[in-house]
Amino acid sequence: MADTAPKVAAEERRESLAAVDRKAEALAKQIKKSKHFIVFTGAGISTSAGIPDFRGPDGNWTLRAQGKPRTKHANTLQAIPTISHMALVELQNRGILKILVSQNCDGLHRRSGILPERIAELHGNSNREACNDCNKEYIRDFRAVSTYENGIHDHRTGRKCARCGGTLIDSIINFGEDLPKRDLDLAYQHAELADLCLVLGSSLTVTPACKIPTIPGERKGAKLAICNLQRTPVDDITDYRIFTETDILMAKLMEKLDLPVPPFILRRRLIVKVETQEEDRHKVEVTGVDSDGTPVTFLQSVRLEGSRRVARAEPYIIHVRDTVQPGSELRFDLEFMGHYNEPNLELAHLYNDSEEVLYLLEYDPQTGKWSTERQEIPQRAVEYIVLDP
Ligand SMILES: [Zn+2]
Repeated sequence: MADTAPKVAAEERRESLAAVDRKAEALAKQIKKSKHFIVFTGAGISTSAGIPDFRGPDGNWTLRAQGKPRTKHANTLQAIPTISHMALVELQNRGILKILVSQNCDGLHRRSGILPERIAELHGNSNREACNDCNKEYIRDFRAVSTYENGIHDHRTGRKCARCGGTLIDSIINFGEDLPKRDLDLAYQHAELADLCLVLGSSLTVTPACKIPTIPGERKGAKLAICNLQRTPVDDITDYRIFTETDILMAKLMEKLDLPVPPFILRRRLIVKVETQEEDRHKVEVTGVDSDGTPVTFLQSVRLEGSRRVARAEPYIIHVRDTVQPGSELRFDLEFMGHYNEPNLELAHLYNDSEEVLYLLEYDPQTGKWSTERQEIPQRAVEYIVLDP
């Protein structure tokens, strides 16, 4: 990844709402016609969530080039995904959006509900770390980024792999480093297939990521749309050039497509495993997972009603010295990281002989309430779950 930053931020332009409306109408028609629609996002999509961009007037790189300190900004873990983020989730869920290619590492796309197989995170994700030896990934509800005390190429986070004991490294791509192969390949593959690419909130100046939209942009028959406040180096090959905030365009676009922008719901998945060791001795384990089975750390503690012990670190294991049989109820008190002020959740687990049960936990930050749903464990998820040290 390579880049330079100018001292004077490029001028920002905002078109009239009427002009945006007309362009949104045309773009909506193009989306309906398209067979392979892809979206490419940059920092501009997260600014309305309180996360600063890089090259705007108060952007991180602009301030650095001017020798000024970075502005205070919202903690990305507490940021609420924007209208643009949520519109993309809806487009994904309806099968309209085939792949999301993002340069952002704030983790907001994944938290908003974009599935792991539907996103190429070209510059990494500050909530994701992986084992240097066995490549096992871990998603954390905290910043899983190296302190870079030993230089910007030392990505060690200080944690160890729960599977093999290997060193965990963050997924952030710093200047001068290669982009992750899986994500770059996925992005190129879909860019080749795309008949419509929409760029949201990127000035397209960071190579090689910025080359992705130019693939459909330069191909005959494919269309390129760019929504960004500043000009980009590829404006001359775009079919739709929209100067406005991404939220304004996406709200209009969803209206034209007659689709809702869903509210942000924080979704967590939890596996409860009850292993019978002797008639009255059981090992109960509680594990956070992603939709693809990747372990996710989002709990602070797990308490079992009637048990004195509180599990405060992964793996969350509680030993039960009582008879647990079909029909027995285990009541857990789950304590979360609380970035969205989510309160503790009491989970009633009805034991029915199946060793492992998956729960979908949904938290609505608007109402401050949790809801839970017992689900089937997809076969593929089980094989990934290896948390015993
Ligand atoms: Zn490992």
